[in-house]
Amino acid sequence: STNPELSPARQPEDVDAALRPKSLRDFTGQEAARENLRVFIESAKGRGEAMDHVLFFGPPGLGKTTLAQIVAKELGVGFRATSGPVIAKAGDLAALLTNLEPHDVLFIDEIHRLNPVVEEVLYPAMEDRALDLIIGEGPSARSVRIDLPPFTLIGATTRQGLLTTPLRDRFGIPLRLVFYTEGELTRVVSRAAGLLGLVIDPDGAREIARRSRGTPRVAGRLLRRVRDFAHVAGRDVVTRTLADEALTRLEVDSLGLDAMDRRYLQMIAGIYKGGPVGVETLAAGLAEPRDTIEEVVEPFLIQLGLVARTARGRCLNDGGWKHLGLSPPSGPQG
Ligand code: ADP
Repeated sequence: STNPELSPARQPEDVDAALRPKSLRDFTGQEAARENLRVFIESAKGRGEAMDHVLFFGPPGLGKTTLAQIVAKELGVGFRATSGPVIAKAGDLAALLTNLEPHDVLFIDEIHRLNPVVEEVLYPAMEDRALDLIIGEGPSARSVRIDLPPFTLIGATTRQGLLTTPLRDRFGIPLRLVFYTEGELTRVVSRAAGLLGLVIDPDGAREIARRSRGTPRVAGRLLRRVRDFAHVAGRDVVTRTLADEALTRLEVDSLGLDAMDRRYLQMIAGIYKGGPVGVETLAAGLAEPRDTIEEVVEPFLIQLGLVARTARGRCLNDGGWKHLGLSPPSGPQG
């Protein structure tokens, strides 16, 4: 019943790439992160040096990759992208690093999923711009140090806490990305509609924004589905009514929750009487990986105040019961 196309998680084919803003100016929202970046970019350019390493953290689809690309562009340097799980061996990372041009940006998505051996190689690379490699095996093995060009590492992760302390400490610029407001997402939707050649009225854009889980990636996906719907219905303009019809058919509810979000809430309400219930238990019951529950599903539900993470497990708040159209069980709970 879950529609992966509407999930904020990245898909193998990055269909949203066409909608990426290409400059800081064009980038809506994330005011605090943007202001910080503007200062660091200016000063790195002024000094003619590589910018300090940046760590972006926050739920999927909020613009971490997009901002990394923009940083490289604004610095006027090259951009290389990879991801934690893709770098299998220390040699793979060494090859990437030794091929960088001075001041380039190397972007590592899901950096918390680096293998520990590879992560060890990254420490001196980040700190001293050097690679310590072991050449040969057994008694003839020796260590050589290779100097690297100055570069900027940009790491992205869904939660800062997933990183090991030594890795986290090596980022001079940690920046948290937050869910977008309805107003910001309305601008994102209007801009994306323009890029897709779709006519949308302001209330139509706002309706899609309101139901996009605070996430531009979701907004872009919903907009495409609404476009299909408009096309089939033979309508030239996306109005609020049309957007509402399309989103209701896609089972995106009034708060923007999708089928997966509702299954999660219903499980806590129905089987666990509102909780507390452990995340492992929920993950098993929903047949979803625990990571997906913690990194994709829960952050937005917590932000909306529907669910709370407590020491004893997840609990449904009053808002969660209300959204399901249920009332909390009365009497003592435990
Ligand atoms: P993350 O790396 O955090 O998962 P991305 O940078 O890949 O997220 O962003 C997902 C998609 O959302 C992008 O392809 C782009 O289309 C859109 N997007 C992200 N941030 C913005 C923004 N501030 N304005 C407009 N579109 C955005």
